[in-house]
Amino acid sequence: MRVAVFSTRTYDRQYLEEANRRYGHDLTFLEMSLDGTTVALADGFPAICVFVNDQVNADVIQRLADGGTQLVALRSAGFNHVDVGAAHDAGMTVVRVPAYSPHAVAEHTVALMLTLNRKIHRAYARVREGNFALGQLLGFDLHDRTVGVVGTGRIGTVVARIMGGFGCRVLAFDPAPNPECERNGARYVPLRELLGESDIVTLHCPLTPKTHHLIDGAVVEAMKRGVMLINTSRGALIDTRAVIAGLKSGAIGYLGLDVYEEEGDLFFRDLSDHVIQDDVFARLLTFPNVVITAHQAFFTIDALRNIAETTLDNIRTFEQGHEPRNLVTPAMVQSTA
Ligand code: NAD
Repeated sequence: MRVAVFSTRTYDRQYLEEANRRYGHDLTFLEMSLDGTTVALADGFPAICVFVNDQVNADVIQRLADGGTQLVALRSAGFNHVDVGAAHDAGMTVVRVPAYSPHAVAEHTVALMLTLNRKIHRAYARVREGNFALGQLLGFDLHDRTVGVVGTGRIGTVVARIMGGFGCRVLAFDPAPNPECERNGARYVPLRELLGESDIVTLHCPLTPKTHHLIDGAVVEAMKRGVMLINTSRGALIDTRAVIAGLKSGAIGYLGLDVYEEEGDLFFRDLSDHVIQDDVFARLLTFPNVVITAHQAFFTIDALRNIAETTLDNIRTFEQGHEPRNLVTPAMVQSTA
C-alpha cells in the first residue's frame, strides 16, 4: 500500500525499512509533522502513518479524506492527538500499536526515579569537572518507601512490579483494577489516599477529558510534602504552572518528566542553536530537582522493532480487507471520556 509516513526520523526509517522487507509497502518518508499546513503532502496517499505530535484534528481529517486517504496508522499506543469521531464520520479507519513494549516505558520511568533520588544528573556533571564533593547529592533508600501508581494498565503494572522488587510499598489507583497488580503486592486505594500517602507518585493513565490536569494546584497541595512526581504518560495530565508553583514552595521535592503539555513545538528535534520561546518550559529547566527527557521512554530497539512490525501489519490487514486488529474506535474514546 502507498503510505505517507509523517514525522520520520532516521531511526523510524531504519526500523520501518527493515520490517518492510517482509511487507513490501510503498513507503514515502516525510520529516515534516502532519498539521493543517502540511496535510497537502498526503494528497493521493490511501494511507498515512503518524506519531504522537502529529495533529490529526477534524480539519486535517477532512482534508485527508478529500485527498483520498482512507487509513490513519498510528505508530503509538496513545490516540489523544486524533479526532477519532471525525475520522469515523469521514469513513476513515484509525489503527494503532497498543502494546509495543510496556517494559521500555516502565524502565525509563524507574530511571527517572533513580536519577532524581540519587542525583545522577548532578553527579555526572560534577565528576567530569573534577568536583568529587558529595554535598547536595544525598538520596534516600527506595526500600520501604511508598510508591503510588496512577493507572495500572500495561505500563503501570510493570512499574508496580519493578517497584515491588525494590521493596517499596505499592499503592495503586485505576477505575478498572488489575488483578495481576494485586497479585504482585500492590494495594488499590482511592486516588486521594494514594496522593496523600505516596513518597513517589507516577502517572500511567491515558490523557482524556477526565484526566486532563489530573495534577492541578489542589492536588499538588494534597500530596505528601516533598513528593517525587513522575510523568511518562502524556504532558497534559499535569498543570505545569501549578507544578512549578509546587516546586518553588517545596510541596514537590522532585519532578521527572518525559512528556510536556506543549511538547509539540519542542520535542523530537535539535533546537540547541535556538532560543527556547516557551517560558514555562524554560522555567522548568532551571530547577536542580527536575529531570526532563524529550519523550524517549518508548525509545528502545525492541520497541522500535515492534512499532514497525505492528504498524506495517496493521496496514496490510486493512489493505487485504480484513477486520483491522488494532482499531481505534469512537467507543474507545467515549469509554475514557
Ligand atoms: P493501558 O491502556 O494499558 O493502561 C492505561 C490504564 O489507565 C488503564 O488500566 C485504565 O483503566 C487506566 N485509567 C483510565 N483512566 C484513569 C484514571 N482517571 N485514573 C487512573 N487510571 C486510569 O495503557 P499503557 O500502555 O499502560 O499506556 C499508558 C499511557 O502511557 C498511554 O496512555 C500513553 O499516553 C503513555 N505512553 C507514553 C510513552 C512514552 O514514550 N512516554 C509510550 C507509550 C505510552
